[in-house]
Amino acid sequence: MKTIVVFSGAGLSAESGIPTFRDSNGLWENYKVEDVAHPSGWAKNKELVLEFYRQRFEGVKKCEPNAAHKAIAKLQDKFNVVNITQNIDDLLERAGCVLIRHMHGSINLRKCEWHKSCCMLDGDTKYTCLFAEEHKEAVKLGDKCMMCGGQMRPDVVWFDEPVLFDFETVRELVKEVKYNDGVFICVGTSAQVHPAAALIPLFAQVKNKYIIDPNPKRIADYTLLTGKAGEELPKLAEKLLKGA
Ligand code: NAD
Repeated sequence: MKTIVVFSGAGLSAESGIPTFRDSNGLWENYKVEDVAHPSGWAKNKELVLEFYRQRFEGVKKCEPNAAHKAIAKLQDKFNVVNITQNIDDLLERAGCVLIRHMHGSINLRKCEWHKSCCMLDGDTKYTCLFAEEHKEAVKLGDKCMMCGGQMRPDVVWFDEPVLFDFETVRELVKEVKYNDGVFICVGTSAQVHPAAALIPLFAQVKNKYIIDPNPKRIADYTLLTGKAGEELPKLAEKLLKGA
């Protein structure tokens, strides 16, 4: 089975109703990034940070996977599909995708603020509190780690925190896609958040590669599909499934 790597950003979930990061009416319009998505903001005002993520948590719960998430899931019929996403929502999971790496964490998981003795190494690189768990309600002030008493926080990656992905694994994926005549699809990202954005040039050596975005950044050798993910991804998936 050939491998397709789908690297996604906020634009993948835009048509589901989840605001993107930088577009007008974006997520951050009413907040300063450093207040709600940086360890210094957490140190200053935990209540504000938790309120911001409560809104994200409640918002995601109300949204449904769109045609793009479903098209990615459909590709699994004939391909080994690996999702690497910057998104913290669970719409790929709910569309039926199986292999998903959340580089920036998950809004549905919580962890202890301290990442200390109560934490363990989970899989390759991700440190997770033993009590990291899917939660049905947003994290509140006073929700404590059962091991060390630290305040719980959403298991999302803030600026200046390490991403939950190992670039060695990405290099292995690049080799697999390159030598196995696979496909790389980059969808709905402005490629401005690092180090996640550094993943795109790593796939430059792959022959079949696409960028899907209504305002795509022009990158040499990539086939640009200038349109919305919910329109372009189903068309591309149909073409790839027919040719498989
Ligand atoms: P970004 O806001 O910087 O860029 C969004 C990109 O999506 C833009 O290039 C825009 O042109 C494109 N876009 C807008 N509508 C689209 C559509 N319908 N179809 C396809 N593309 C569309 O987002 P980013 O590059 O992902 O970086 C933002 C950071 O914020 C990420 O780290 C991410 O974790 C976080 N974030 C996550 C979510 C989520 O989980 N859904 C939402 C917002 C932000």
